[in-house]
Amino acid sequence: MDEQLHETYDEVLARNPGETEFHQAVLEVLDSLGPVVAKHPEYTDRAIIRRMCEPERQIIFRVPWVDDDGNVEINRGFRVEFNSALGPFKGGLRFHPSVYLGIVKFLGFEQIFKNSLTGLPIGGGKGGSDFDPKGRSDAEIMRFCQAFMTELYRHIGEYTDVPAGDIGVGGRELGYLFGQYKRITNRYESGVLTGKGLSWGGSQVRTEATGYGTVFFTEEILRARGESLDGRTVVVSGSGNVAIYAIEKVHELGGKVIACSDSSGYIVDEKGIDLELLKQVKLERRGRITDYVETRGASAQMGTRGSVWDVKCDIALPCATQNELNGSDAKTLASNGCSVVSEGANMPCTPDAIRTLADAGITFAPGKAANAGGVATSALEMQQNASRDSWTFQHTEERLAEIMSHIHQRCLETADEYGSPGNYVAGANISGFIQVADAMLAQGVI
Ligand code: GLU
Repeated sequence: MDEQLHETYDEVLARNPGETEFHQAVLEVLDSLGPVVAKHPEYTDRAIIRRMCEPERQIIFRVPWVDDDGNVEINRGFRVEFNSALGPFKGGLRFHPSVYLGIVKFLGFEQIFKNSLTGLPIGGGKGGSDFDPKGRSDAEIMRFCQAFMTELYRHIGEYTDVPAGDIGVGGRELGYLFGQYKRITNRYESGVLTGKGLSWGGSQVRTEATGYGTVFFTEEILRARGESLDGRTVVVSGSGNVAIYAIEKVHELGGKVIACSDSSGYIVDEKGIDLELLKQVKLERRGRITDYVETRGASAQMGTRGSVWDVKCDIALPCATQNELNGSDAKTLASNGCSVVSEGANMPCTPDAIRTLADAGITFAPGKAANAGGVATSALEMQQNASRDSWTFQHTEERLAEIMSHIHQRCLETADEYGSPGNYVAGANISGFIQVADAMLAQGVI
């Protein structure tokens, strides 16, 4: 790595002790920037990269609420407003017990480049809480969301910071969050949150967008080498919002998803995942995938060894969470003949996995490019809110497909230009970076 980039990384380590996921996300970007700083000394002269590694604002707050038994519970809330060079801070909220500052910062940092790649006017941010929604009643979820928004409302706004969902935050939670925002401010500001319900300012395709977008991106990779998803066997990890709609789109495009997972294990269904059943189990009943196997009958079984990555496939779509696919999983995928790994989740592949995939000649698409369809469709929701309009499903899906194809093209062209042909990591990092860096240069030392 270039010496100045190395110094920047050392500074990040020293200033953000213990935040390992954030360190990992920064290193992955810095690793790609050598040829950029060589060509553009102005970025280092004006400390652009060092400024980019320091969030514009970080908010940490207490979230006190009362559970169904009358006990007072205390969680920690976060909103990291990372970079507003291209537009208002934009990024989801994650409710999961693993959430701490290092996770929110890794997600917020990734979001800067991802949002830049969409070509839409959105900056980068992320938030969430260490609240664990698992096993909580609907009333508890509502009281928690209300307590969370009671602090968050003062930091967000259509022109300031626009949160959305992520792990543990979907349509139900966004409804409670929006309701509380409206109640506190006495204003119907549709553009303050995205991922809203269709009858109250939401956009068609937003729910499906991350999963669909990942599959559109994968299809673009295959098309670039004269192939397609038709007839391909696919393995997806996770079974939440991203995974479910990735499976739906793979099936629509003629591929077959034969495995997916959740925290209770993984399932293999040789006939192809029955999506209606999976939606029933995961979305309606909020159950576990073991219930899928019980209802489905002979074609489906719980996986017995290793992980979902032991299932032989042509294409792997990690759609669960960070660092869920490691070096040895990557080796297994390679020896099973897998040729594309495309990230539906944020940073699901470890650095070791990414190296192993590259060595094995497997095409790897990083999340900041491949899963940008979710936030891109959030930006389309903001457009509709600003013009008090609402588009059809077909029109919105066409826009999403165009955006994903454009990101794909930008990645390949930039990778070529900077001497790493076919390298989607370099293409995504460099292309996302340059657009933000140029905006920061233009806006002065702020
Ligand atoms: N949480 C999603 C992501 O990781 C979407 C964020 C948004 O729509 O603002 O990109």
